[in-house]
Amino acid sequence: MTAPDISFVVPLYNEEENLPELAAEIRATMARLGRPYEVLFVDDGSTDGSLEALRALGAADPHLRILRHRRNAGQSAGLATGFRAARGRIVVTLDADLQNDPADVPRLLDELERGYDVVSGVRVERHDSWTRRFSSRVANSVRNWATDERITDVGCSLKAYRREFLDHLPMFGGMHRFLPTLVRWNGARVTEVPVRHRPRLHGVAKYGIGNRLFRALADLFAVRWMRTRWIDPRNAEEVAVRPARTPEGE
Ligand code: UDP
Ligand code: MG
Repeated sequence: MTAPDISFVVPLYNEEENLPELAAEIRATMARLGRPYEVLFVDDGSTDGSLEALRALGAADPHLRILRHRRNAGQSAGLATGFRAARGRIVVTLDADLQNDPADVPRLLDELERGYDVVSGVRVERHDSWTRRFSSRVANSVRNWATDERITDVGCSLKAYRREFLDHLPMFGGMHRFLPTLVRWNGARVTEVPVRHRPRLHGVAKYGIGNRLFRALADLFAVRWMRTRWIDPRNAEEVAVRPARTPEGE
């Protein structure tokens, strides 16, 4: 297989029923695009048949790679594992539950071609419960206000990155809610595109308001602190040294 240009990173926890369809949709999109790619499925310690489903899919498709966590470690950990293993110069992230539509990926890639470094999806018609949509809206506003950010929908996992902007980021549990902000601190030009969102047909949502709110708030304080201590890589440059000229004739 030629070296991948695009690495899909898909963290998953107990999504066995969604995986065959997701793999097929990614394959169909990439067949249309005709660019070399790989798909990194990160099994975050699933207790259902997800790993077996992945093994079966991987046996039939050389584009798939399977990584796994011994214990459930969360969506951010899954992303971090995928980022480390990704070989493409572009990384595309999406959820495994089929709520994101791989058919939107070409639109994200177009924005990278246009010169942006990171493209974040905005779910235009969101198919989640009223309480989930409302809590997301509040969370986005508070997060934007507290981190001087203006991302419309950070909870949309469908995003595309130039790899170099992920290589030097601090990785921590909860960081997936701050990725556009963290990359921007390293100089990334970030843009947003509208994307589709679909209802979850199989499996269950892993988050409710309770397990999101308090951790996300604690992370917000951590990220605010981090901003005051951020080491901006753009501050550093290598100084060119001209070799000393040797006197004529020596
Ligand atoms: N996920 C994971 N580890 C976890 C929780 C979730 O890898 O501990 C995955 C999950 O399988 C899905 C993505 O992260 O692919 C987003 O989770 P979910 O769909 O439950 O979140 P929501 O769409 O409700 O925000
Ligand atoms: Mg979901």
